[in-house]
Amino acid sequence: MVDVKKKAAELLSSEAVKVIIGYTEGTGGKPRAAFIQNVADVEKLIFNSQCVMNLAVYLTKAEIKKLGKPAIVAPVNVLRAIIQLAFEVQIQESDIVVLGITPDEKLVEFQSFAAIESYLEDFKMELDAKEKETLAKISGMSLEERWAYWTEELSECFKCYACRAACPMCYCHKCAVEQNKPQWIPVAAHQLGNMEWHIMRAMHLAGRCVNCDACHNACPKGINLNFLTKLMLADAQEQLGYTGPTLKEGNLLSTYNPNDQENFIK
Ligand code: SF4
Ligand code: SF4
Repeated sequence: MVDVKKKAAELLSSEAVKVIIGYTEGTGGKPRAAFIQNVADVEKLIFNSQCVMNLAVYLTKAEIKKLGKPAIVAPVNVLRAIIQLAFEVQIQESDIVVLGITPDEKLVEFQSFAAIESYLEDFKMELDAKEKETLAKISGMSLEERWAYWTEELSECFKCYACRAACPMCYCHKCAVEQNKPQWIPVAAHQLGNMEWHIMRAMHLAGRCVNCDACHNACPKGINLNFLTKLMLADAQEQLGYTGPTLKEGNLLSTYNPNDQENFIK
Protein backbone atom coordinates (compact mmCIF):
# COMPACT_ATOMS: atom_id res chain seq x y z
CA MET A 1 0.00 0.00 0.00
CA VAL A 2 2.98 2.28 0.57
CA ASP A 3 3.73 2.62 -3.15
CA VAL A 4 0.02 3.20 -3.97
CA LYS A 5 -0.19 5.99 -1.38
CA LYS A 6 3.07 7.50 -2.63
CA LYS A 7 1.82 7.54 -6.23
CA ALA A 8 -1.57 8.96 -5.13
CA ALA A 9 0.18 11.79 -3.24
CA GLU A 10 2.38 12.55 -6.27
CA LEU A 11 -0.62 12.68 -8.60
CA LEU A 12 -2.53 15.04 -6.31
CA SER A 13 0.37 17.35 -5.54
CA SER A 14 1.31 17.68 -9.23
CA GLU A 15 -2.38 18.24 -10.03
CA ALA A 16 -2.21 15.42 -12.59
CA VAL A 17 -5.51 14.33 -11.00
CA LYS A 18 -8.01 16.09 -8.75
CA VAL A 19 -9.36 13.12 -6.80
CA ILE A 20 -8.26 9.63 -5.80
CA ILE A 21 -11.07 7.08 -5.75
CA GLY A 22 -10.02 4.37 -3.30
CA TYR A 23 -11.01 2.45 -0.18
CA THR A 24 -10.94 3.73 3.37
CA GLU A 25 -12.05 2.57 6.82
CA GLY A 26 -15.85 2.72 7.12
CA THR A 27 -18.23 2.17 10.01
CA GLY A 28 -18.39 -1.20 11.77
CA GLY A 29 -14.93 -2.14 10.51
CA LYS A 30 -16.17 -2.37 6.90
CA PRO A 31 -14.29 -0.49 4.18
CA ARG A 32 -16.09 2.18 2.19
CA ALA A 33 -15.29 4.25 -0.89
CA ALA A 34 -13.06 7.31 -0.38
CA PHE A 35 -12.80 10.38 -2.60
CA ILE A 36 -9.50 11.93 -1.59
CA GLN A 37 -8.79 15.46 -2.78
CA ASN A 38 -5.94 16.51 -0.44
CA VAL A 39 -2.46 15.02 -0.15
CA ALA A 40 -2.81 14.95 3.66
CA ASP A 41 -5.76 12.53 3.37
CA VAL A 42 -3.90 9.99 1.23
CA GLU A 43 -2.88 8.20 4.45
CA LYS A 44 -6.55 7.26 4.91
CA LEU A 45 -6.38 4.86 1.93
CA ILE A 46 -6.58 1.18 2.85
CA PHE A 47 -6.74 -2.12 0.99
CA ASN A 48 -7.65 -5.55 2.33
CA SER A 49 -9.73 -8.61 1.44
CA GLN A 50 -12.90 -6.82 2.56
CA CYS A 51 -12.52 -4.16 -0.14
CA VAL A 52 -15.06 -5.90 -2.35
CA MET A 53 -17.11 -3.00 -3.71
CA ASN A 54 -16.45 -2.19 -7.34
CA LEU A 55 -15.11 1.39 -7.36
CA ALA A 56 -15.53 1.61 -11.15
CA VAL A 57 -19.19 2.38 -10.42
CA TYR A 58 -18.12 5.96 -9.57
CA LEU A 59 -16.41 6.61 -12.92
CA THR A 60 -19.74 7.25 -14.64
CA LYS A 61 -21.40 9.26 -11.83
CA ALA A 62 -21.98 12.95 -12.63
CA GLU A 63 -21.26 13.94 -8.98
CA ILE A 64 -17.79 12.36 -9.17
CA LYS A 65 -17.03 13.64 -12.67
CA LYS A 66 -17.62 17.16 -11.32
CA LEU A 67 -14.65 16.75 -8.96
CA GLY A 68 -12.22 16.65 -11.91
CA LYS A 69 -9.90 13.99 -13.33
CA PRO A 70 -9.73 10.92 -11.06
CA ALA A 71 -7.15 8.27 -10.30
CA ILE A 72 -8.77 5.02 -9.23
CA VAL A 73 -7.39 2.25 -7.02
CA ALA A 74 -8.13 -0.86 -9.04
CA PRO A 75 -7.95 -4.52 -8.01
CA VAL A 76 -8.82 -7.06 -10.72
CA ASN A 77 -12.62 -6.68 -10.42
CA VAL A 78 -12.30 -2.91 -10.98
CA LEU A 79 -9.88 -3.42 -13.90
CA ARG A 80 -12.38 -5.70 -15.63
CA ALA A 81 -15.12 -3.11 -15.19
CA ILE A 82 -12.82 -0.41 -16.61
CA ILE A 83 -12.27 -2.49 -19.77
CA GLN A 84 -16.00 -3.13 -20.15
CA LEU A 85 -16.82 0.58 -19.60
CA ALA A 86 -14.13 1.55 -22.12
CA PHE A 87 -15.60 -0.84 -24.68
CA GLU A 88 -19.01 0.74 -24.06
CA VAL A 89 -17.46 4.21 -24.60
CA GLN A 90 -18.38 5.34 -21.08
CA ILE A 91 -14.80 6.28 -20.14
CA GLN A 92 -11.82 7.57 -22.10
CA GLU A 93 -8.20 6.62 -21.52
CA SER A 94 -7.15 10.28 -21.20
CA ASP A 95 -9.79 10.99 -18.53
CA ILE A 96 -8.56 8.66 -15.77
CA VAL A 97 -5.39 7.33 -14.15
CA VAL A 98 -5.57 3.68 -13.12
CA LEU A 99 -3.63 2.59 -10.05
CA GLY A 100 -3.75 -1.19 -10.28
CA ILE A 101 -3.34 -3.01 -6.99
CA THR A 102 -2.35 -6.63 -6.44
CA PRO A 103 -3.91 -8.73 -3.64
CA ASP A 104 -0.72 -8.13 -1.61
CA GLU A 105 -1.17 -4.37 -2.01
CA LYS A 106 1.52 -3.70 -4.62
CA LEU A 107 1.03 -0.91 -7.15
CA VAL A 108 0.70 -1.81 -10.84
CA GLU A 109 0.91 1.20 -13.13
CA PHE A 110 -0.82 1.18 -16.53
CA GLN A 111 -0.07 3.53 -19.40
CA SER A 112 -3.11 2.51 -21.45
CA PHE A 113 -6.32 0.49 -21.42
CA ALA A 114 -4.55 -1.98 -23.75
CA ALA A 115 -1.97 -2.55 -20.98
CA ILE A 116 -4.81 -3.36 -18.56
CA GLU A 117 -6.27 -5.78 -21.08
CA SER A 118 -2.90 -7.57 -21.37
CA TYR A 119 -2.55 -7.72 -17.57
CA LEU A 120 -6.01 -9.29 -17.28
CA GLU A 121 -4.98 -12.16 -19.55
CA ASP A 122 -3.43 -13.68 -16.41
CA PHE A 123 -6.78 -13.33 -14.58
CA LYS A 124 -9.34 -15.09 -16.73
CA MET A 125 -12.87 -14.60 -15.48
CA GLU A 126 -13.59 -18.04 -14.09
CA LEU A 127 -16.15 -19.45 -11.72
CA ASP A 128 -14.77 -21.23 -8.67
CA ALA A 129 -15.65 -24.79 -7.65
CA LYS A 130 -18.29 -23.72 -5.11
CA GLU A 131 -20.00 -21.43 -7.62
CA LYS A 132 -19.97 -24.21 -10.25
CA GLU A 133 -21.52 -26.58 -7.73
CA THR A 134 -24.38 -24.13 -7.00
CA LEU A 135 -24.91 -23.50 -10.72
CA ALA A 136 -24.99 -27.23 -11.44
CA LYS A 137 -27.59 -27.64 -8.69
CA ILE A 138 -29.80 -24.91 -10.20
CA SER A 139 -29.31 -26.10 -13.77
CA GLY A 140 -30.22 -29.65 -12.75
CA MET A 141 -33.66 -28.56 -11.52
CA SER A 142 -36.83 -29.02 -13.54
CA LEU A 143 -38.44 -25.80 -14.82
CA GLU A 144 -41.00 -25.92 -11.99
CA GLU A 145 -38.32 -26.50 -9.35
CA ARG A 146 -36.21 -23.68 -10.76
CA TRP A 147 -39.16 -21.28 -10.75
CA ALA A 148 -39.87 -22.21 -7.13
CA TYR A 149 -36.17 -21.78 -6.25
CA TRP A 150 -35.93 -18.27 -7.69
CA THR A 151 -39.35 -17.25 -6.37
CA GLU A 152 -38.17 -18.19 -2.88
CA GLU A 153 -34.68 -16.67 -3.29
CA LEU A 154 -36.07 -13.35 -4.55
CA SER A 155 -39.00 -13.22 -2.09
CA GLU A 156 -36.94 -11.22 0.43
CA CYS A 157 -36.21 -8.46 -2.11
CA PHE A 158 -37.83 -5.18 -1.13
CA LYS A 159 -36.59 -3.23 -4.14
CA CYS A 160 -34.14 -0.91 -2.46
CA TYR A 161 -32.02 -1.05 -5.67
CA ALA A 162 -28.75 -1.13 -3.71
CA CYS A 163 -27.64 -3.90 -6.10
CA ARG A 164 -28.21 -1.60 -9.06
CA ALA A 165 -26.42 1.31 -7.36
CA ALA A 166 -23.38 -0.90 -6.65
CA CYS A 167 -23.08 -2.27 -10.20
CA PRO A 168 -20.53 -0.54 -12.45
CA MET A 169 -22.51 -1.68 -15.50
CA CYS A 170 -25.79 -0.07 -14.36
CA TYR A 171 -25.09 3.48 -15.47
CA CYS A 172 -28.30 4.50 -17.29
CA HIS A 173 -29.54 7.91 -16.14
CA LYS A 174 -33.07 6.58 -16.05
CA CYS A 175 -33.63 2.91 -15.30
CA ALA A 176 -36.53 1.01 -16.90
CA VAL A 177 -37.82 0.20 -13.40
CA GLU A 178 -38.56 3.89 -12.87
CA GLN A 179 -40.44 4.35 -16.15
CA ASN A 180 -44.13 4.81 -15.51
CA LYS A 181 -45.32 5.84 -18.99
CA PRO A 182 -45.62 3.00 -19.85
CA GLN A 183 -44.75 1.15 -16.69
CA TRP A 184 -42.65 -1.84 -17.75
CA ILE A 185 -41.94 -3.33 -14.33
CA PRO A 186 -44.44 -3.36 -11.43
CA VAL A 187 -43.27 -1.03 -8.64
CA ALA A 188 -44.38 -3.23 -5.75
CA ALA A 189 -42.03 -5.80 -4.24
CA HIS A 190 -44.44 -8.70 -4.77
CA GLN A 191 -43.69 -11.98 -6.49
CA LEU A 192 -44.31 -10.80 -10.05
CA GLY A 193 -42.69 -7.41 -9.47
CA ASN A 194 -39.55 -8.98 -8.00
CA MET A 195 -39.26 -11.62 -10.70
CA GLU A 196 -39.66 -9.09 -13.52
CA TRP A 197 -37.15 -6.70 -11.93
CA HIS A 198 -34.51 -9.38 -11.52
CA ILE A 199 -35.00 -10.96 -14.95
CA MET A 200 -34.84 -7.52 -16.58
CA ARG A 201 -31.73 -6.66 -14.60
CA ALA A 202 -29.97 -9.93 -15.43
CA MET A 203 -30.79 -9.66 -19.13
CA HIS A 204 -29.42 -6.12 -19.27
CA LEU A 205 -26.17 -7.53 -17.89
CA ALA A 206 -25.89 -10.48 -20.26
CA GLY A 207 -22.38 -10.47 -21.69
CA ARG A 208 -21.58 -7.27 -19.74
CA CYS A 209 -21.44 -8.46 -16.11
CA VAL A 210 -17.84 -8.62 -14.87
CA ASN A 211 -18.69 -11.12 -12.11
CA CYS A 212 -17.49 -8.83 -9.32
CA ASP A 213 -20.31 -9.74 -6.88
CA ALA A 214 -20.70 -6.08 -5.86
CA CYS A 215 -24.49 -6.45 -6.33
CA HIS A 216 -24.69 -9.38 -3.92
CA ASN A 217 -22.35 -7.71 -1.42
CA ALA A 218 -24.53 -4.57 -1.44
CA CYS A 219 -27.80 -6.42 -0.88
CA PRO A 220 -29.06 -5.88 2.70
CA LYS A 221 -30.94 -9.18 2.48
CA GLY A 222 -27.97 -11.19 1.21
CA ILE A 223 -29.90 -12.37 -1.86
CA ASN A 224 -27.91 -14.48 -4.31
CA LEU A 225 -29.04 -12.39 -7.28
CA ASN A 226 -25.49 -12.61 -8.66
CA PHE A 227 -26.19 -16.25 -9.53
CA LEU A 228 -28.59 -15.09 -12.25
CA THR A 229 -25.69 -13.38 -14.01
CA LYS A 230 -23.28 -16.22 -13.12
CA LEU A 231 -25.62 -18.65 -14.88
CA MET A 232 -25.39 -16.54 -18.01
CA LEU A 233 -21.63 -16.27 -17.64
CA ALA A 234 -21.33 -20.06 -17.38
CA ASP A 235 -23.35 -20.45 -20.59
CA ALA A 236 -21.23 -17.82 -22.35
CA GLN A 237 -18.04 -19.56 -21.26
CA GLU A 238 -19.20 -23.01 -22.19
CA GLN A 239 -20.88 -22.19 -25.50
CA LEU A 240 -18.91 -19.20 -26.76
CA GLY A 241 -15.54 -19.50 -25.01
CA TYR A 242 -16.08 -16.15 -23.29
CA THR A 243 -13.35 -15.36 -20.72
CA GLY A 244 -14.10 -11.77 -19.80
CA PRO A 245 -14.33 -8.28 -21.26
CA THR A 246 -11.95 -7.10 -23.94
CA LEU A 247 -11.56 -3.78 -25.73
CA LYS A 248 -12.56 -5.22 -29.10
CA GLU A 249 -15.21 -7.76 -28.18
CA GLY A 250 -16.42 -6.42 -24.87
CA ASN A 251 -20.10 -6.94 -25.42
CA LEU A 252 -20.97 -10.54 -26.02
CA LEU A 253 -24.54 -9.96 -27.21
CA SER A 254 -23.61 -7.40 -29.84
CA THR A 255 -20.58 -9.27 -31.18
CA TYR A 256 -21.20 -11.51 -34.17
CA ASN A 257 -19.00 -14.45 -35.05
CA PRO A 258 -19.95 -16.70 -37.97
CA ASN A 259 -18.65 -19.67 -35.96
CA ASP A 260 -21.06 -19.05 -33.06
CA GLN A 261 -23.14 -22.10 -32.26
CA GLU A 262 -26.82 -21.86 -33.08
CA ASN A 263 -28.01 -24.99 -31.30
CA PHE A 264 -29.82 -22.88 -28.69
CA ILE A 265 -32.36 -21.78 -31.36
CA LYS A 266 -35.30 -24.09 -31.08
S1 SF4 B 1 -24.26 -7.58 -12.05
FE1 SF4 B 1 -23.23 -7.79 -10.07
S2 SF4 B 1 -21.49 -9.12 -10.53
FE2 SF4 B 1 -22.20 -8.30 -12.50
S3 SF4 B 1 -20.99 -6.41 -12.86
FE3 SF4 B 1 -22.88 -5.81 -11.82
S4 SF4 B 1 -22.33 -5.76 -9.64
FE4 SF4 B 1 -20.74 -6.97 -10.68
S1 SF4 C 1 -30.19 -4.96 -3.08
FE1 SF4 C 1 -31.29 -6.85 -2.53
S2 SF4 C 1 -33.23 -6.13 -1.63
FE2 SF4 C 1 -32.35 -4.38 -2.70
S3 SF4 C 1 -33.29 -4.46 -4.78
FE3 SF4 C 1 -31.34 -5.58 -4.91
S4 SF4 C 1 -31.90 -7.73 -4.51
FE4 SF4 C 1 -33.63 -6.46 -3.81
